[in-house]
Amino acid sequence: MSTPPPSNFFCCADDLTTLGAARGPFADLSRRALVGSGLVAGLFLLTGCSRTAKTVLPGPKWPDDHGPVIIKPTPQAPNPVAGPVMNVVPRSQWTRSGVGRPGEINPMNGVSRITIHHDAVHSGDIRSSADAARRLESFRRDHVNSRRWADIGYHYIIDPSGRIWEGRNVRFQGAHVKDNNENNVGVMLMGNFNQQSPSPQQIASLDRFVGQQMTRYRVPMSRVYTHQELGQSACPGSSLQRYMSKTRRSGGSLAMGVATGRFS
Ligand SMILES: [Zn+2]
Repeated sequence: MSTPPPSNFFCCADDLTTLGAARGPFADLSRRALVGSGLVAGLFLLTGCSRTAKTVLPGPKWPDDHGPVIIKPTPQAPNPVAGPVMNVVPRSQWTRSGVGRPGEINPMNGVSRITIHHDAVHSGDIRSSADAARRLESFRRDHVNSRRWADIGYHYIIDPSGRIWEGRNVRFQGAHVKDNNENNVGVMLMGNFNQQSPSPQQIASLDRFVGQQMTRYRVPMSRVYTHQELGQSACPGSSLQRYMSKTRRSGGSLAMGVATGRFS
């Protein structure tokens, strides 16, 4: 039996509101830091270690404080956004609905960051694949019908048994971090991690899947976030936040897996 999302659920951001000015005391700083780190990583990939490279690259252009932030994919290193997805249950397994409002959804235009969420609903009643599918459909209906978003807000969802489900097609921007959905893949773990801990199967899938996505899109560890690191939110809950801090640092499971190529 599925549990409908709580009325005070607040884990996502409206579609087509993502290009507005950043809010909060750290918004401008974090945007500059994010764009800056992305540019540095991109330039490194372009130039490598060659001492003979003579290409003169343009300096960074900071986004206007009140304008949109547009991070375009690097032409020399195509971003395989439309490629096959690894180890993911296709969307067709839980809904027959496509994008609810095709005219109200932004293209992703390349992936440069990943953000981790929870759904803030205890997962104790999810005992089967069918239970997870029902919860997904419940969320999709809430996001489309009540919140008037184009589709379910997240790109991928990990259920308590570690299955990874496809949500919103990654060709489109999600609706999961207010004002920060550009180039940002949203990964949600089912559960309320202020009340419970993620299951060992969820943790294993989280590390493997995020590691695969980092490799696939060339996303550095410095651009793997939790929701509360990008906006005002308690998401992804205290226990998952603790785990994310641990797994990303040197010697952590995600860091080790990426460094050794185990998740490639
Ligand atoms: Zn969230």
